[in-house]
Amino acid sequence: MTTDEFRRAGHDAIDWIADYLDNIEHFPVQSKVEPGAIRGALPAHPPLDGESFDTILRDVNDIVMPGITHWQSPSFFAYFPSNTSPPAILGELISAGIGVQGMLWSTSPACTELETHMMDWLVEMLDLPDAFKSDAGGGGVIQDTASNATLAALLAARERVTDFRSNERGLTQTDQRRLVAYASTQTHSSLEKAMRIAGLGSENLRLIDVDEEFAMRPDVLDGAIRSDHAAGRVPFFVCATIGTTSTGAVDPLTAIADIAKQHDMWLHVDAAYAGTASICPEFRHFQNGVQHADSYTFNPHKWMLTNFDCNVFFVADRATLTRTFSILPEYLRNKPTEAGSVIDYRDWHVQLGRRFRALKLWFVIRSYGVEGIRAYVRRHVELARDFADWVRTDAGWDVVAPVHHSLVCFRHSGGDSVNQQILDTANASGRLFLTHTRLEGKLTLRMAIGGRLTERRHVEQAWQQLKASVPESA
Ligand SMILES: *Cc1c(COP(=O)(O)O)cnc(C)c1O
Repeated sequence: MTTDEFRRAGHDAIDWIADYLDNIEHFPVQSKVEPGAIRGALPAHPPLDGESFDTILRDVNDIVMPGITHWQSPSFFAYFPSNTSPPAILGELISAGIGVQGMLWSTSPACTELETHMMDWLVEMLDLPDAFKSDAGGGGVIQDTASNATLAALLAARERVTDFRSNERGLTQTDQRRLVAYASTQTHSSLEKAMRIAGLGSENLRLIDVDEEFAMRPDVLDGAIRSDHAAGRVPFFVCATIGTTSTGAVDPLTAIADIAKQHDMWLHVDAAYAGTASICPEFRHFQNGVQHADSYTFNPHKWMLTNFDCNVFFVADRATLTRTFSILPEYLRNKPTEAGSVIDYRDWHVQLGRRFRALKLWFVIRSYGVEGIRAYVRRHVELARDFADWVRTDAGWDVVAPVHHSLVCFRHSGGDSVNQQILDTANASGRLFLTHTRLEGKLTLRMAIGGRLTERRHVEQAWQQLKASVPESA
């Protein structure tokens, strides 16, 4: 493809995206293709000769689009939002155009410095502790996902207790099997996965009971830590969640932080979905206690208009993090790194190579402004509260978990099979897409509001569709 051809095809591609977003409401939200259908429509072998962009784009329409679930649809209420926005798409495009690999400061200074600057902006925007700022002892880094941020936190926490240079407890590597981590029963599965990957083992993760609002019980946490201590084990890590995946529950951070401090444990805060809400001062009370966190993570790729992937991970003490991950082979040696005068983000996570993701974040923050993002969050929360009111005041339906942000957990009183039928019928209509969870053993529907294009009428239509999906027998 020549530059001229690229220019033309590029215009076509942008037009294609704009048309798609303009018409997105008219697609059935969830793809209904059978397994294997998309592969069946593709040629068995790669083309020997190059094809025109027109032909390729036509096949996107004919072959790919039927297999797409429309995450940007205003009637997508499943999982959590994974929203995007025009400035984010353009930031991604320019990042691809520049094609930078930002493993070291010296491989493209702007890639590192813009990222550092965006991380500092976010500390200010979310009112996070000053310790997370790059000019203090901490700092932030963009990672691909919250799962990897949590893995990084766990590995850094292990580094802190097993490193003789920094810790008088001086646990040896073989003592590692005694390390124990804690989180609530509602914690995201990525923590258990991280325990396995780190070689610490699922059996050394304690899942602490929750209260009637699905938040961790600090008294149970304290008891579990004490009994592990008594048994000669080493409690070293606790994860508190602000906005759990299942119900949006908020763990009592201040109480958990007190316990973590008493026992000299690493406190990690997972706010993957709800972190974005802290941009609005009225939601910051949920993060009271965050000043005691050793690490914190949230996903702009969920609710902050920045397309996947874009996770943000902050630590209060970056020396521990970089000691965990840094290694300097000869072929990466360079003067700025050795002078210690720059940040090399390859020392902040598992992988070496990294994309220029700060660009899309910069585009989003500048295009919307802080107030613009706040307006989105507030609109979604207001819609969720209205939806919850409609459910509560309708006989036969209940809201079954607190609505702290924009996720509503609810169910029909008819029991599991009725709720399953409602879910299946409503999703089959193509007019919305909803997923479920299980609370106290009961099938529960989740209405996660957060699409950039979602308006009141889409939420109203979803509610009408859900009511119309109740089987006659119920
Ligand atoms: C979505 C979510 C995760 C996982 O996010 P990824 O970025 O997909 O790894 C972790 N924790 C919570 C609370 C979440 O909601």
